[in-house]
Amino acid sequence: MSGRCDIAVIGLGAMGAAALSALAQAGADVAGFERHDSPHDLGSSHGESRLVRQAYAEGERYLPLARRSAELWRALNARTGEAIYTECGVHYAAPAGARLTRDVVRAAQAAGLPVRTGEGVPGADRITCPAGHERVFEPEAGFVRPEAAIAAWLSQARSAGARVAMRTPVRHIARSADGVSLALEGGAVQARRVIVTAGGWTGDLAAPLRARLTLQRRMMSWFADPDGLHGPERLPAFVIEAQGGWYYGAPAIGQDGVKIGRHHGDQPCAHPDQLDRAPGPEDAAEVTGFARSALPGLGPLTRQAACFYTMSPDEDFILSFGELDPDMAVVAGLSGHGFKFAPAIGEALARWALDETPAIDLSAFALARFG
Ligand SMILES: Cc1cc2nc3c(=O)[nH]c(=O)nc-3n(C[C@H](O)[C@H](O)[C@H](O)COP(=O)(O)OP(=O)(O)OC[C@H]3O[C@@H](n4cnc5c(N)ncnc54)[C@H](O)[C@@H]3O)c2cc1C
Repeated sequence: MSGRCDIAVIGLGAMGAAALSALAQAGADVAGFERHDSPHDLGSSHGESRLVRQAYAEGERYLPLARRSAELWRALNARTGEAIYTECGVHYAAPAGARLTRDVVRAAQAAGLPVRTGEGVPGADRITCPAGHERVFEPEAGFVRPEAAIAAWLSQARSAGARVAMRTPVRHIARSADGVSLALEGGAVQARRVIVTAGGWTGDLAAPLRARLTLQRRMMSWFADPDGLHGPERLPAFVIEAQGGWYYGAPAIGQDGVKIGRHHGDQPCAHPDQLDRAPGPEDAAEVTGFARSALPGLGPLTRQAACFYTMSPDEDFILSFGELDPDMAVVAGLSGHGFKFAPAIGEALARWALDETPAIDLSAFALARFG
């Protein structure tokens, strides 16, 4: 592709596909560029499920984004007729007084969201906790299917007139007389504004961010559901504090069974193209131990898949509108918890690109906070 568009979106994973869809549906002249063929399993948006939580323990600044995203997830289901978002609730469990459950309850109170506590909450009959753990259930939460969400946004974008260039890496972004110029292999595209949603590759395109972003390898694991008792109608999504970290998971929705991952860990990776994707014995041992104790009804490990988090220095998002260049927005450093917010972030990017008033104040996520 070469030529001109009003707005260019670079990287069509979760954030880019959501932004492209919002822009195209607003009538913008928009083109999207993706180095692979999205959805794919080489970035941060694959693996069957992503948790959606609204009572956000990570901080009150996320609550308006969480609320708006929940509305937009429900709207995406209604519009596509697909169960992209399953609102089966999220079951939290942690030692009494732990930050996780305490902050979920606090966030729910701040946002006016319902939560339930105690041993009788949904999922307590499937999830075994050590004595002294307390349980919290958030009903207006659940999980989304990331590949289906991205495919739906791309389909909506194409139907609304967006140009989509797959297997088209953008090599470089430069300032031009009336906006920006994108260097492609064998061509160039001029745009009035550019949105960079390149996930773990952001530093390749926005050099000032290179030193701020680090990558962390994470393994996703699935365990068999031999009796069919761990589907979303019986088992909510879950976040459980155990062995010094948070384990999260989603109910069985495919042949591989229940998905489990460990949020915390330290497996640095220099660049996404160098990620060690092969599961090793250590990737199986710890999560299997957790699965055996917390979900004793599950069968053996059936599958593992590697993914990576792109971490910001403070683990809060970098949502940068016009800071590096007046005509460039960058979304980066989503630090392993961004997917649930993709609809509202996509909407915010579209509003910025079209010079509309922001619906949500996102200034707390600006790059400027790092000085
Ligand atoms: C194991 C795991 C579990 C997670 N669980 C959750 C969860 O439960 N809930 C939650 O909310 N979040 C979760 N996250 C985080 C969430 O998935 C990510 O924050 C989100 O998917 C990141 O989306 P993205 O669009 O920024 O990146 P990506 O989806 O990786 O998209 C970036 C895209 O840019 C493309 N690209 C890069 N460079 C270029 C270029 N030069 N030219 C063109 N294209 C380019 C890439 O090919 C890629 O498609 C999890 C992440 C992982 C890894």
